[in-house]
Amino acid sequence: MSDYDFDLFVIGAGSGGVRASRVAAAHGARVAVAEEFRVGGTCVIRGCVPKKLLIYGAHFAEDLSDARRFGWNVPDCGFEWTTLRDNVLGEVDRLEGLYKNTLDSHKVEMIPERATITGPHGVRLASGREVSAKYILVATGAWPVIPDTPGAEHGITSNEVFHLDRCPGRIVIVGGGYIANEFAGIFHQFGSHVTMVNRTGTLLRGYEEAVRDRLLQISITKGINFRFNAVMEKIEKNEDGTLCVRFADGDPVACDTLLFATGRRPHVEGLGLESAGVEVNDKGAIKVDDYSRTSCESIYAVGDVTDRVQLTPVAIREGHAFADTVFGGNPRMVDYSCIPSAVFSHPPLAGVGMTEAQARNKLGTVKIYTSDFRPMKNVLAGREERALYKMVVDATTDRVVGLHMIGPDAPEILQAAAVAVKAGLTKQDFDDTVALHPSMAEELVLLK
Ligand code: NDP
Repeated sequence: MSDYDFDLFVIGAGSGGVRASRVAAAHGARVAVAEEFRVGGTCVIRGCVPKKLLIYGAHFAEDLSDARRFGWNVPDCGFEWTTLRDNVLGEVDRLEGLYKNTLDSHKVEMIPERATITGPHGVRLASGREVSAKYILVATGAWPVIPDTPGAEHGITSNEVFHLDRCPGRIVIVGGGYIANEFAGIFHQFGSHVTMVNRTGTLLRGYEEAVRDRLLQISITKGINFRFNAVMEKIEKNEDGTLCVRFADGDPVACDTLLFATGRRPHVEGLGLESAGVEVNDKGAIKVDDYSRTSCESIYAVGDVTDRVQLTPVAIREGHAFADTVFGGNPRMVDYSCIPSAVFSHPPLAGVGMTEAQARNKLGTVKIYTSDFRPMKNVLAGREERALYKMVVDATTDRVVGLHMIGPDAPEILQAAAVAVKAGLTKQDFDDTVALHPSMAEELVLLK
């Protein structure tokens, strides 16, 4: 029996923490996990899962309208935000229950309290209970950043957006990243007047330029408003509860809801990292080595709190690799190359590997293949919206080094194609594959 209360104490029951707890317990470790809010973390409780359900809900707006062109006699339909909201929140409750069951069935002690590190092996719980553990894993995720504009307290973040009392008639969304573009699409489909406010002229930095430009063009055509290079001066709340966003230049914008989607910073405040000599970098992220070990030997960190790649599947892999390394006798690192990602905008976009600009910088000579087409469904629906697929190929080796797309189901198609890019397949391998007709994905093997 070890001298510690637990072999592993995990702080944070999100994607990374739950996976690490479960796998470590399966390897025979005595594990406890502390969570001050709800089991499931950002992804399940206030991120990917409820967001994706809202995306499905939003899509009905276009589908119901398109259905008429396909012969369906669709009467005028109204949308009830509260029905969707409550059903989505109900599904979140169900999933949280499943996460709790998983921890229970692996005999992980669940402690619904805030935990603070007191030393290399010590943790203090909010109740005052002191606990010791051979290893501590920090998996506390990240938290939305709110700009310090006067009146910013009148805005909300993605933490609150799933709980709105009503669907806003007018919404201003600050930011031009994942969350901003996804919620712009969602609320636009629900009938809100959407204005996106961006501090620069660039949306979705890091994604392929042609794909980002296509999203912007489609969003403008749909009726989403953009304020680029905007400097917010202040936000005022009117007596009737509405808001007024004022800028250094240009007209103010009135709205009912102001959503900040301006990035997320590692959640380390008040964790007691200094008591164990755990170092953070200049962005406040916990510094870790390839095995997720921090500057303190007995403390590890995984997921958004380390700010490596802020994506759920990456946190899960890091948590799993940590548990296998420390408790499974199988030291392994996470491979960060070729991670596919998607923005569930409207339409969605997805990418894997290098953009054209990155490939030109790194490889010198590249070949680019594109397909710019109107999906069959859009043609019959009378919708002008075009899809765009772009393949980036290393001209020397013929290897496909990047794949980027925007259009219906782009994330679903890209996930499968990412296997080929990750495996290092060539353009010729794509060409040698017979098309699956008629599909949108067949464009990938027909690129000229
Ligand atoms: P992002 O990093 O995607 O985008 C942040 C945006 O806010 C950028 O446009 C940035 O501008 C802007 N910004 C940053 N600081 C300020 C500021 N002080 N004032 C005004 N604008 C500012 O962050 P999100 O909040 O959208 O999402 C957080 C993270 O969550 C993402 O990075 C992603 O990893 C993850 N996520 C993933 C999703 C998915 O996989 N589909 C969905 C949602 C979130 P600039 O570009 O100029 O820096």
